[in-house]
Amino acid sequence: MITPDCEVCGMPAIGKAPSALGGLNVFLCLTCLAQGAEPEWVFELALEDTGVGAEWASGRKTFRDGKYISWDDWKAGVRDWPG
Ligand SMILES: [Zn+2]
Repeated sequence: MITPDCEVCGMPAIGKAPSALGGLNVFLCLTCLAQGAEPEWVFELALEDTGVGAEWASGRKTFRDGKYISWDDWKAGVRDWPG
């Protein structure tokens, strides 16, 4: 049996959990589940949909360059995002 990777940090996942964005299930490891972390692509989806990020994103985190970062910090790092 193949253990799927956590979609946030790439570590072995423990299972699927619903994203706070809604309508999505993502593979998460225990740490990311405890952190309430979302995959970067979920943040990208929210940014694309809303332009500024929705209410749900406040207090959520994602994982980049080996550490958890807040929505605000993540968004500041993608200012060159097309559109
Ligand atoms: Zn993880």
